[in-house]
Amino acid sequence: MSLTGAYDDDNIFAKILRGEMPCVKVFEDDVALAFMDIFPQSRGHTLVIPKGVRARNFLDLPPETVGPYLARVQRVAQAVTTALSPDGVVVLQFNGAPAGQTVFHLHFHVIPRWEGEAMKGHGAAPKADVAELQALAARIAAAL
Ligand code: AMP
Repeated sequence: MSLTGAYDDDNIFAKILRGEMPCVKVFEDDVALAFMDIFPQSRGHTLVIPKGVRARNFLDLPPETVGPYLARVQRVAQAVTTALSPDGVVVLQFNGAPAGQTVFHLHFHVIPRWEGEAMKGHGAAPKADVAELQALAARIAAAL
């Protein structure tokens, strides 16, 4: 999918937002939903998606919603750091398939990193155990 085009209301994250698909939730308010990545590139890999917008990527996001949304991304990154004590944390997002995007509802990745532990490849990580994700989500949520 290119950078331009119509928003697909049946993308996975739209379905999660509508409650039609499950997620392991970390945080939710009227601006954003954060949940555990089901194919985590590291322990604690969390996604933060905006609510109430039909934005495929960062370029689509209405300017007035950028600030409130990024404040939630920052809050989740802080909570991941407090909860899991990583040595570093990657915050990133991809725009368009050639850039690496695979789900076309805007999302930021929050990926904690530890010295000496390689980050698994984007789109190359195995599926996580849901019980383990639930335990991590509870720890992160407690640090919000
Ligand atoms: P991107 O490739 O940047 O569009 O990121 C999409 C992310 O969504 C990937 O890291 C996937 O592992 C993750 N993902 C895909 N489906 C699900 C799902 N049902 N629940 C949680 N994470 C998902």
